[in-house]
Amino acid sequence: MVLPASEVSRRKTIMLRNADAFSKRVPLALQKEQRGLAREIQRRQYRDNDVKALGVLYDYVDRVMAHGKGNVACKRGCSACCKAEIALWQLEADLIAAKTGVAVRSVPLDPGRKMTPYTMTTSPCPFLVNETCSIYAYRPLACRTMVSFDADSTLCQFDHRFDTPALMMIDRATTFGGVYEAFNVILHRNGGGAGDIREFFGESPVKVGDNHQA
Ligand code: SF4
Repeated sequence: MVLPASEVSRRKTIMLRNADAFSKRVPLALQKEQRGLAREIQRRQYRDNDVKALGVLYDYVDRVMAHGKGNVACKRGCSACCKAEIALWQLEADLIAAKTGVAVRSVPLDPGRKMTPYTMTTSPCPFLVNETCSIYAYRPLACRTMVSFDADSTLCQFDHRFDTPALMMIDRATTFGGVYEAFNVILHRNGGGAGDIREFFGESPVKVGDNHQA
């Protein structure tokens, strides 16, 4: 379904209201906790274990997003953003491979490369099975922080790829600035490359073959 411009415009009010309600609902203590993440992942138990440090960030994002119910369009079975470009780092790709046993490619580090979040593609993520993520517990940070404040997923669909309002999606820099600061610390010491998830795992559906779904 393609919405007329007037309806897209009307929805902006809904998006702003939802974003505001969400930010008020996240407890202050949880918001403050984010400021210490970059320090936390440099403690001894995380300093030499990037996967464990990554887990701290994944857990934090999930605890914040648990407060999004009622204000986000995202829900199980909705997979519009799984057809977008999904930025993935080698560390995250290796974690998925280790947890699922699927083969992973190495993507070289290209410091000049810029990822383009929310760019729609015509091929779904290789881990999308029956419109559900088959590696939900190990999905990358890009997926965990890709959140729509709209009333439903209509504007997330491919047909609307050119007129999706920026305010529809969560502002990662504002909402998860501390997470990405800590993430950069981990990436810097890990040194792996980055790319779209299909560069690491191919475009064909990947069979994980177990119960990794959330
Ligand atoms: S990893 Fe999972 S959530 Fe992320 S794009 Fe792929 S199927 Fe969707």
